[in-house]
Amino acid sequence: MARRENAELSVEEKLKTLFQLQTSLSAIDENKSLRGELPLEVQDLEDEIEGLKIRIEKIQNEIDEFQKAVSDRKADILEAQTSVMRYKNQLDDVKNNREYDTLSKEIEFQTLEIELCNKKIREAQQKIKEKMLEKEKNVNDLEDHENELDLKRSELDDIIEETRAEEDRLKIKVKELETKIDPRLLASFKRIRKNARNGLGIVYVQRDACGGCFNKIPPQRQLDIKMHKKVIVCEYCGRILIDPELAGIKTDKPGEEKKKTRKRSIRRKKDEE
Ligand SMILES: [Zn+2]
Repeated sequence: MARRENAELSVEEKLKTLFQLQTSLSAIDENKSLRGELPLEVQDLEDEIEGLKIRIEKIQNEIDEFQKAVSDRKADILEAQTSVMRYKNQLDDVKNNREYDTLSKEIEFQTLEIELCNKKIREAQQKIKEKMLEKEKNVNDLEDHENELDLKRSELDDIIEETRAEEDRLKIKVKELETKIDPRLLASFKRIRKNARNGLGIVYVQRDACGGCFNKIPPQRQLDIKMHKKVIVCEYCGRILIDPELAGIKTDKPGEEKKKTRKRSIRRKKDEE
């Protein structure tokens, strides 16, 4: 009697064990997918931050150039003003009209030069104002991105830390369950799971339909599933079907979708502790 129990599980036990295995594997999959997106988001933010830093540096260089232009023009003005003063002094000692005209023209030229410099200074100062605003906007963006990066990084660290312990526990459970299932059934379960988009190799019956592909299950097949005497697969997707009662699922609770939300909310509760 005892030997028989060890050698072969009943169909009921096989299905139950497979479903437990599926639950553990799905939890591992979910952890992987939770972690899977965050590193990418962190990478994106890091790239954007790098881009913003380069942009801010470029704008600062432009501001520096305009400021240099302003001080250069101011130096030009000072030089022109000195010339004007010198020419004006020379006007007192002119010997003839020609000399007077030459000096007057020089004074006029230098005065125009000063006006031109003033115009260029105003233009440069306007540009500086614009660039300062542009820089401020980018600095604000940078701060926002850096704050977001901090959040995402700590979220990722938390998940990695949290899932590491959970995943180790789940992997041990998977190993344990796998040894209970006979190799042929385990191999076909793994094959079904590998080919299934949502990683589900065994699903429970939901509203008279397969919980994997949602195709209706004929009434006779549903009865067979309820009997727990044979391993029955979905005729459409090939997934192994299990009676929800046997799987420990309350039938009034619909769907995979709900199941996932439930798991997530448990995870969140853990986070809040
Ligand atoms: Zn199906």
